[in-house]
Amino acid sequence: MSNHIAPPNQTLWTLTAGPAPDLAHDVPSRCDVLVIGGGFTGLTAALHLARAGRSVTVLEAGQLGSGASGVNAGFVVPNFAKADPAVVRQKLPRGKADALLSLVGAGADQVFTTIAEEAIACDAAQTGWLQPAYGEDMADILRQRARNWTQLGRPVEFLEAREIHAETGMNIYSGGLIDHSGGTIHPLNYLYGLARAVMRRGGIIRENTRVERIARNGGGWRVSFADREIEADSVLLATNAFTGGIAARMGRTGVPLRVYQVATRPLDTGTVARIAPHRRPVGDTRSNLFTYRLDRDNRLISGGMAINPIGAFDRVGRAVVDRLVSELRLPRHPGVEVVWTGFAIMTPDFLPRLYRFDEGFFGGIGCNGRGIAMTAQLGQVLARLALGEAAESLPIPLQPARSLPFHRFTPLVASLALAHARFDDWRTGRL
Ligand SMILES: Cc1cc2nc3c(=O)[nH]c(=O)nc-3n(C[C@H](O)[C@H](O)[C@H](O)COP(=O)(O)OP(=O)(O)OC[C@H]3O[C@@H](n4cnc5c(N)ncnc54)[C@H](O)[C@@H]3O)c2cc1C
Repeated sequence: MSNHIAPPNQTLWTLTAGPAPDLAHDVPSRCDVLVIGGGFTGLTAALHLARAGRSVTVLEAGQLGSGASGVNAGFVVPNFAKADPAVVRQKLPRGKADALLSLVGAGADQVFTTIAEEAIACDAAQTGWLQPAYGEDMADILRQRARNWTQLGRPVEFLEAREIHAETGMNIYSGGLIDHSGGTIHPLNYLYGLARAVMRRGGIIRENTRVERIARNGGGWRVSFADREIEADSVLLATNAFTGGIAARMGRTGVPLRVYQVATRPLDTGTVARIAPHRRPVGDTRSNLFTYRLDRDNRLISGGMAINPIGAFDRVGRAVVDRLVSELRLPRHPGVEVVWTGFAIMTPDFLPRLYRFDEGFFGGIGCNGRGIAMTAQLGQVLARLALGEAAESLPIPLQPARSLPFHRFTPLVASLALAHARFDDWRTGRL
């Protein structure tokens, strides 16, 4: 995926963002902490370090927004894509599980708090996030899930079918979950705001600087890129799904998924009032997930994946809007305004990962499509590691980074899983 480090493709966000921040042209020869990757994870870590008084430099291979942080759909969802409290408690010892659950559950609040503290203009709307349940069995699972999150102190409720109908205009669901701390943002403006917040505190961010090598340098590190070297006491790898240069050691620990996003032309206010009276983002429980949200101009944003990547751009764009028209019973086809794409990464157990590559060299990954809320927490935990906090006290377990066997073929596995999910939805009448 290294060839995808390029200026962001044209997205709804590049078309509607404010001006990009003015970044550094040069970097110092040393700093306390060097952060590799200028997405949400890297910039959040840098912000916490700069707030703690550390000198911090961020090196970004492309431009701000080249990675998933620039191309995502802006749903702020404070939980796991494929795991819930019960699953996490099965996988981890009780104390560790509850620490991770508390961290993840508070992720959306952390996003909106940072936005308020740093006065980031990014259309932030903490309206709540809806997860409608398809089928009675799934409604029972969500009822229990809502109880589990409530016990952890989260503002989560189960809504009955008629309430979900009133929230979405859709009468196919058997109820659903609402997390009142979720919502939506303009992700690129949020990223730009994080960058400005880092720089206001003396942090340095440089684009078009792909880190190739890192080597021990006494008690610290020497990091090399095309024209320079920089010395640092600690290094944080925040390169997500990328596998070019130094990023390979982390990017190969997860399965990259190509996700397409689509924005329609703006809807009329009557339709908006019917399908999203409180402007809440929606993501249902079907295997072939149905999602939608509105942007500030009432465009519908949704997404999908392709089993066959050849010619998928236009095909997925049309299919996603056709599905919106049919599921939401839109009075007319709104038309496709822009289609864009990017890579998300899934870890095998769908949980976030914190890696220790060596003394003072750490990485974090695994936001599993819920990365906006999760990175607000992951970045902070990475910063705590760089500040010298003991690993045992952290809410995400530290582990060695192990590349997935046959990583190059994992997209094929993802395509097969998608084909299976669609077949399953079709077989059980969910499509
Ligand atoms: C299409 C799409 C839709 C999504 N929708 C949502 C959503 O609605 N809600 C949600 O919560 N999550 C969503 N996600 C997931 C979310 O966007 C990510 O989990 C999150 O942005 C990850 O942030 P990050 O900083 O870890 O990684 P990234 O944003 O990918 O940043 C990594 C950065 O590292 C840089 N880099 C790579 N290699 C090097 C190197 N060698 N040297 C220097 N820099 C390097 C890259 O250029 C990149 O900018 C979506 C993802 C995609 C792809």
